[in-house]
Amino acid sequence: MEVPFFCYPHVFAQYREEALAALLKAADRGAYILQDEVREFEDAVQGFTGARHVVGVANGTDGLALALRAAGVGAGDEVIMASHTYVATAAAVHFNRATPILVECGEDHLIDVVSAAAVITPRTRAIVPTQLNGRTCDMAALMALAEARGLIVIEDAAQALGSKFRGQCAGTFGLAGMISLYPAKLLGCLGDGGLVMTNDDAMAEKLRLLRDHGRNEEGEVVAWGVNSRLDTVQAAVLLAKFKHYPGEIERRRAIARRYRDRLAGLDDLKLPPGPDDGGHFDVYQNYEAEAGRRDE
Ligand SMILES: *Cc1c(COP(=O)(O)O)cnc(C)c1O
Repeated sequence: MEVPFFCYPHVFAQYREEALAALLKAADRGAYILQDEVREFEDAVQGFTGARHVVGVANGTDGLALALRAAGVGAGDEVIMASHTYVATAAAVHFNRATPILVECGEDHLIDVVSAAAVITPRTRAIVPTQLNGRTCDMAALMALAEARGLIVIEDAAQALGSKFRGQCAGTFGLAGMISLYPAKLLGCLGDGGLVMTNDDAMAEKLRLLRDHGRNEEGEVVAWGVNSRLDTVQAAVLLAKFKHYPGEIERRRAIARRYRDRLAGLDDLKLPPGPDDGGHFDVYQNYEAEAGRRDE
């Protein structure tokens, strides 16, 4: 039996009625662009993660690119990231005219802080750790390095909504953190969507301007911006789905625990860390094992 990596219709079927009701509620009002549901969803994620600000954007890649731009990363800057990430992490840096500098990962497949320290140059501006597979890096070590060397940290937490290190949520450690709402992500919508989280008031204000053509709350254009808003209908669906999110994380963690209990005896297999691994709270976007004879 071949198990599909992801089954989109099955996911939708699990919350079909609630999603449809939410979608219709927005559509019947003609509420499409930055309407109530967007703010309500941002608030819900704020409460869940403890982030001071949450800004909905059109997709995760835009969120990362806008956060880098708002942080002032630009031409001539170098940005350190893990080699084991999605291409979008590097693209977000590239389109800010900065240079991605790739470094090795540690045993848990996340950026290795010692390797990151080794490639810092006078041009290094930022570190973008990817919280891959729903696991948060040792952010104590990473933030200590960044602070010691005067570097900005912006997290690619695309896969890590609700993941924690020492009780703090992924995406809330650095100047900003991005979450992807792509359909196959932990909390996926019916298309593209993303969030940027930040504890910095000025950063949040810049992000809100950047995502909406530089327009402020009064609709006045006060800066250059782009069009990268989280759609209201997507936010409506996400709000409906979000009620089940804590339960889904617990289910993933229970399955990871079961894999660990039952597969630990196989010599050929190197399993990801278990759910109760030191200060880490993993949410298992993916269960990424290593095997010498993978296809078998
Ligand atoms: C999904 C993903 C992205 C891109 O997010 P989109 O919402 O698809 O733009 C970036 N980085 C990582 C690690 C991802 O998993």
